[in-house]
Amino acid sequence: MIQIEKVSKFYGIYMALDDVSLSIGEGEFFSLLGPSGCGKTTLLRSIAGFETPTAGEIYIDGVPSLALPPNKRPTNMVFQSYAIFPHLDVAENVAYGLKRLKLSPEEEKKRVGDALDMVRLSGLGQRKAHELSGGQRQRVALARALVMRPKVLLLDEPLSALDKKLREEMQVELRTLQKAVGITFILVTHDQYEALALSDRIAVMFGGRIAQIASPKEIYQRPRTRKVADFLGGMNFLNAKVLGEQANAVSVDAARFGAVNLVKPQGFAAASGHVTVGIRPERLRLLWDDDRAPHELTGRIENRAYFGEVTHLTVGIDGLEQPLSMVETNNFGADDLPVGAEIRLAYDPDAFVLLAEDPPVSRV
Ligand code: ATP
Repeated sequence: MIQIEKVSKFYGIYMALDDVSLSIGEGEFFSLLGPSGCGKTTLLRSIAGFETPTAGEIYIDGVPSLALPPNKRPTNMVFQSYAIFPHLDVAENVAYGLKRLKLSPEEEKKRVGDALDMVRLSGLGQRKAHELSGGQRQRVALARALVMRPKVLLLDEPLSALDKKLREEMQVELRTLQKAVGITFILVTHDQYEALALSDRIAVMFGGRIAQIASPKEIYQRPRTRKVADFLGGMNFLNAKVLGEQANAVSVDAARFGAVNLVKPQGFAAASGHVTVGIRPERLRLLWDDDRAPHELTGRIENRAYFGEVTHLTVGIDGLEQPLSMVETNNFGADDLPVGAEIRLAYDPDAFVLLAEDPPVSRV
């Protein structure tokens, strides 16, 4: 549905997008994820036609689209600020963009009714914008875009103005809505949990470039570089020594964890014989009393932080430069372990990932 080919964007001498290429399928929920300033909004606005890339081409449904103005593209955008008219009621807001299509009054009414049904606002058509909650306003904004029946819906941080609980509810709704309407959704977000929960695939961006594109599970469990790993959540990084290299795998000595075999990430080169490996905090597990595991280490709790359903532990291990981070559910009393306590932990050597070097920053 969307094919982005070698797109770059300069603002003066500042490079906001650096040779970005990617394809997004029909009916896919695709997220652009990255820190502030990484270029994700610029890329989304380029697809919409609100920005013109300096180089490259964007095909939408097979059509080269850079020469087309926004209203000639089969896309519609939902903005972070709801962008709804306060003096119009909900139905009038949703009907607004339809005016230029000059539909019959019956057809227009039907399309507005369908759009309001989709976002579960039927019955609220006569309400004014100021009589709506934040979540309802965001649904009006969604209905306004969906009523145009775009092939691609572009969402620029649409939930970031909502409080945490409402945002989580709307995330579920957004995903359900996308599956129901079946059109391509492209979401810009800096919230890794939002991207993980909603997307079929995620593109992680840094410094105007794509660092990795993969499914949520793949990108979380098999981040390609240290920066991607770090952005997606907690990760224990370890310096390791290469013991041997095969076509697709590398065996390394991961300090106190011993020898582990790892899948080679794309773009991996172990020039120095030293590599960085990572293991997520929740892949380390506390062992209690008589628990035994094939792979164990002993350590001492250096810090403990209680988060309600889980406790975060920092555990010092003799022979490791950095303490390890662990996340334990509170079912077994991890929240009661005192700082200084000796503990045993289990790990699975398959949970380690080998991380490729991040490319140097190329921005002017
Ligand atoms: P955020 O999450 O903060 O919106 P982003 O990842 O969406 O960040 P962009 O808005 O795409 O980032 O901006 C990418 C870079 O380009 C930023 O460093 C920004 O300052 C710069 N930039 C964006 N728009 C312009 C502009 N009109 N003129 C000059 N620089 C711009």
